[in-house]
Amino acid sequence: MEGYYAYAQVRKYGRLKSERRLRVEEENPLVCDYEGSDYQKQFWECGGREYEDRAEAIALRRLTPSAGDRLLEVGAGAGRNTHRFEGFRQVVLLDYARSQLALAQQRLGASDRYLYVEADAYRLPFAQGVFDAVAMIRTIHHMVDPLAVLIQIHHVLCCEGLFLLEYANKRNVKAIARWILKKQTWNPFDRQPVEFAKLNFDFHPAAIQVWLGEAGFKITRQLTVSHFRLDWLKQRVPLKVLVSLDSCLQWTGNWWQLSPSVFIQSVATGERRPAPEGAFWRCPICDSVDIEKANQGLHCLGCQRLWPLRDGIYDFKEPLTT
Ligand SMILES: [Zn+2]
Repeated sequence: MEGYYAYAQVRKYGRLKSERRLRVEEENPLVCDYEGSDYQKQFWECGGREYEDRAEAIALRRLTPSAGDRLLEVGAGAGRNTHRFEGFRQVVLLDYARSQLALAQQRLGASDRYLYVEADAYRLPFAQGVFDAVAMIRTIHHMVDPLAVLIQIHHVLCCEGLFLLEYANKRNVKAIARWILKKQTWNPFDRQPVEFAKLNFDFHPAAIQVWLGEAGFKITRQLTVSHFRLDWLKQRVPLKVLVSLDSCLQWTGNWWQLSPSVFIQSVATGERRPAPEGAFWRCPICDSVDIEKANQGLHCLGCQRLWPLRDGIYDFKEPLTT
C-alpha cells in the first residue's frame, strides 16, 4: 500500500507522461500471480457468482462483434469468457499463470483456433498491430501500472482495432454509502486508485478514461455491470430478475458509472507502422520480431533465446537459452 502511494505520487492523475513508451517505468512491476490458484473453482463455480457471470455475459454480447479475425484475451485465466468470442477465427489466451492456462486448455482443447501464451502483460510478446481485437476482463484491477499495460495493448492492436476493458469501479453506490456512513476510510470520489487488498485495485472512472486517452484509445461505448452485487439481494431476489434488471441498467453506462464493474468499448487510434510481413511474435527481452519456429518452441534471432512450447503452452517467462 505504502509503496503504491509513493509510486502514484510520481505520476499524479491528469499529469501522466504521454510518450509512447513500451517499457514500464518500474523495472519489474509486481504481478498478481494466480499460479496454482483454485480461483476458477472457488470464486466462480462454488462462490455464488452466477449473477455476476451472467451479467458479464450480457455485456460482452453487446460489445463484441459477431465476427472477426484474431482476438487477444489478456488475463484469460481458465478461459471462463473465451467461448464468448466465438465469432473470431482465432483467440489467443494470455495469462501469467501456467496452471490457469492448463485449465483453459482442458476446457477448450488443443487446436489452431486457440493459442495459449504464458507471459507478462507488461511485456506482451506480439508484433505491432497483429490483433483486430483485445479483451481484458477482471484483470486491470491487479495492475500497479495500468497505463503501461494499456500502451502495450495499443501496440499490438491494428489501426481502429477494438479494445474491450472491464475494470473495478471504486465510485460505486455501495462504496459511496459506506463512506457517508463512515464505515469506510477511503473516499470513493478521490481519483487515486484504492488497493483494498494486496495487488487488488479499484479505480475511479475518470482515471481509467484519462489512461485510455493517454494510451491512444477513443471510447465508443460504456456499460455498467453487476449493479446488484449485494449478498442479501442475491439471496432474496430470483437470479433471473436480478439479471434482467441489470441488463436494463447496463445501458446507462454511457451517462454515469456507479456500479462495481464497468465495461468500456474503445478503438485504437493513431498512425501505426504495420509489422513486417509474416511477423506475429515479439521477443519480450530484446523486442525483435525476427522469430522463427524451432523444435522446442520459438527461436529469437535478435538475442538467440529459445522460448519453449511445452504441452501446447508458449512460455515467454523463462527462455531455455540465455
Ligand atoms: Zn530476443
